[in-house]
Amino acid sequence: MEYKSGCLICGKELAYQEDYEKVECYYCNETYDTNVKCINDHFVCDRCHSLSANELIERFCVNTKLENPIEIALILMRNQKIKMHGPEHHFLVPAVLLASYYNLKNDDKKKIEKIEEAEKRAKNLLGGFCGYYGTCAAGVGTGVFISLITDATPLSKHGWKLSNMMTSKSLLSIANVGGPRCCKRTTLLSISEAVNFLNENFGVGMNINENLKCEFSSLNKECLRDECPFYYQKSDKT
Ligand SMILES: [Zn+2]
Ligand SMILES: [Zn+2]
Repeated sequence: MEYKSGCLICGKELAYQEDYEKVECYYCNETYDTNVKCINDHFVCDRCHSLSANELIERFCVNTKLENPIEIALILMRNQKIKMHGPEHHFLVPAVLLASYYNLKNDDKKKIEKIEEAEKRAKNLLGGFCGYYGTCAAGVGTGVFISLITDATPLSKHGWKLSNMMTSKSLLSIANVGGPRCCKRTTLLSISEAVNFLNENFGVGMNINENLKCEFSSLNKECLRDECPFYYQKSDKT
């Protein structure tokens, strides 16, 4: 998967037309006049092109109407601003869960507020936490998510319990697969655990992809390959 020159979203080549037309930006939903789209009709505006990883995560999660957190995560992780590994995943996990959760609840105001707060909290979740502190911060991102939707504080009773329980479930699932670090694997495991947890503890059902397959293994030289639950071999690179 090398999207270095083509479309940021799907990697296909860009096509330049003679005429300009009005097109919606894939990430911010604003309309622009353009003569450049990829052959799959994707268009990304100049502003969204120049965002940092966290800004891109925030903008897309605020604007999307999708209710599947795995789908949102995959769309974001395909963008070259989101590196194969990196602390932006610590914000990505709570952001995609908050987006899906508040889209299901139809509450845009809360969604924006909570995503902003998640971004602030994620700044304290530094890179390398997994190996140096024994706490994968993508997993912590699910605890941040539950803390935000329950308005937990250090003094809360129920929200405190649920948030810590959530993180422990994600970390156990991450630990069971084993190292070395892979931000894609731990992100997908954490989101899947959070979806189960929401179902069991909040009665909230989110539809996520069955038989999830990783698209990023060729970019990860430490990929566990057959030992990773998401690994599959592409038969044809198109
Ligand atoms: Zn495209
Ligand atoms: Zn845009």
